Amino acid sequence: MMRLGSRVAHMVGSGDDGWGIYYRTRELVAQGIGVTNLTIGEHDVGTDRRILEAMHASALSGQTGYAFGPGKRPLREAIAARVTARTGVPATWENVVITPGGQAALFASHMVLLSAGDTGLYVDPHYATYPGTIRATGAAAVAVPARSEREFQPDAQAIDAAAAESGARTLLLNTPNNPTGVVYARRTLEEIAQVARARDLWVISDEVYDTQVWEGAHLSPRALAGMEERTVVVGSMSKSHAMTGSRLGWIVAPVEVARAVTDLATNTTYGVPAFIQDAALHALEMGPGFEAEVAAPFRRRRDIAQAVLAGQNAVRPIPPAGAMYVMLDIRATGLSGEAFAHRLLEEERIAVMPGESFGQAAAGHVRVATTVADEAFADALGRLAALAGRLAAGRAEAGPAAAGGGGGATA
Ligand code: PMP
Repeated sequence: MMRLGSRVAHMVGSGDDGWGIYYRTRELVAQGIGVTNLTIGEHDVGTDRRILEAMHASALSGQTGYAFGPGKRPLREAIAARVTARTGVPATWENVVITPGGQAALFASHMVLLSAGDTGLYVDPHYATYPGTIRATGAAAVAVPARSEREFQPDAQAIDAAAAESGARTLLLNTPNNPTGVVYARRTLEEIAQVARARDLWVISDEVYDTQVWEGAHLSPRALAGMEERTVVVGSMSKSHAMTGSRLGWIVAPVEVARAVTDLATNTTYGVPAFIQDAALHALEMGPGFEAEVAAPFRRRRDIAQAVLAGQNAVRPIPPAGAMYVMLDIRATGLSGEAFAHRLLEEERIAVMPGESFGQAAAGHVRVATTVADEAFADALGRLAALAGRLAAGRAEAGPAAAGGGGGATA
């Protein structure tokens, strides 16, 4: 067997992480069978033409050479101004480093804050890459469960206990949250901030969905008392500006951390193409009105989801407050998230992600991406609920033994 470096060999867990659904969907599509695909967190529109034109103009003007270093100053200034406005805590261009997407920013943050043998904490359910990103640094990745019954708000006491036990150095938070669609409450974040200060934790705050908040306003942990010096904000143009393919993200952090991220970039990515940076600056200058336009379809479909799922109880939606996802508790069907997702794909030709692919805390749930046209979305969700209803009714008819014993996924 080929010998690979241990960090990469152990980076990804052994589960199928929802790929089973992905491959089966591809198989069906290849056979000419239509599938409504609600698995992917990506807009159903491309990058706006005005942004592409800015990219084109920049490239034609000669911005095609190496663009190494922490990023172009005007873009760093624009991001500093944005984060200052959003957190009320001043940031300058020196706090900002441009990265090839939010994912590279997540990796860089952990890489500069963790050493081999350390522990990094993350909240379960989690975005798919989190444990691998932490493990890639040589640190151990430890999950802290957030419970469905608490609407997936993380539990500060559990974080405190995990930090005490493991001596963790970092805590990765994500609000608005993928996969749950939950926005962390101010109180939750304040309790966690207190733990972070007491346990001397860095908070790596993944805020790539910060423009997709359906109720109230986005709250960054950086905005909380005493948190600026221990928080690394991770941001991205992917979700806010429908620029997933452009690979443009950033970190906003204390200057020493920003310098270390720059050193890492010099030895890994060598910076982000200058014409992409110019396009990103143009996109940011289009202002909050454009961001609201990009977010609007997800806001609408969140409302559609609530309307379609009202008045039934086979599926319990976790109240969606942000991002492009709705998490559904389907434990009343007696099936695991994975088994339900497979039934839904075979019987209704609808693809959703099994909750289990986002961690054990989401077992017995499925994640629905709100990323197809409104009508198709409403129709798919209606059929999903109907299937869940049939399964739950069948289970009730089979008697209390089946109803009590079938819910392996609830454990
Ligand atoms: N964080 C979260 C929570 C995400 O959902 C994603 C993308 N789906 C990313 C980070 C990475 O985004 P990107 O690298 O495109 O900025």
